[in-house]
Amino acid sequence: MIAANIEKIRQQLPSHVKLIAVSKTKPIEMLHEAYAAQQRAFGENKVQEVVNKYPLMPLDTEWHLIGHLQTNKVKYIAPFIHLIHAVDSIKLLETINKEALKNNRVINVLLQVYIAKEETKFGLSNEEVFELLNHATTHQLNNVNICGLMGMATYTENTQQIEQEFENLHQFFNTLRQEINKYPILKLESFTELSMGMSSDYELAIKHGSTMIRVGSNIFGER
Ligand SMILES: *Cc1c(COP(=O)(O)O)cnc(C)c1O
Repeated sequence: MIAANIEKIRQQLPSHVKLIAVSKTKPIEMLHEAYAAQQRAFGENKVQEVVNKYPLMPLDTEWHLIGHLQTNKVKYIAPFIHLIHAVDSIKLLETINKEALKNNRVINVLLQVYIAKEETKFGLSNEEVFELLNHATTHQLNNVNICGLMGMATYTENTQQIEQEFENLHQFFNTLRQEINKYPILKLESFTELSMGMSSDYELAIKHGSTMIRVGSNIFGER
């Protein structure tokens, strides 16, 4: 079933869009099943859970931390994490840089931008993104690789609103790429990812420039 679900989604994906299989709360057997179907990128939102699952999967598994991350937990994932999707403060970026340095690594991150009309969601405003980029430049945070932006749309039936929110993030992403020379910490060849879209809205996200979709329930079933 899992293999068929993955295949169905893959068939809809343009070649520039990567599927992250969101395996949070799901048992390791289900991840093995997805791995057998050639799925390599897995998304988890809790540090403890990804730390537990990491040794139980083959070494070429790519681990994505997609949820809100507390600074005091960065050290547990720093040795192996492939991409942190939800950087939402300068303090968190500083901590990731510090832990990456300790591990002699450069850690890939995305900046989470607040695009929804919901109080509950995390993320930076566009203004705060500029502040963070300036800070990262002046403090030479060279052990983080800022690969792009991440956003979550409002949970609503109103597809027009969802599309507008995704499009706003897409525009902001394009603006940053166009003005990349203003932000020496960013590199055009690595600032390429736009992580948006989940089970309920990934088709809309792809329409508006997503390069990474994070899909859980459509692959593994309801949580
Ligand atoms: C859980 C989660 C997803 C996947 O949600 P589904 O609706 O199950 O596809 C995507 N992104 C984030 C940040 C999540 O926490």
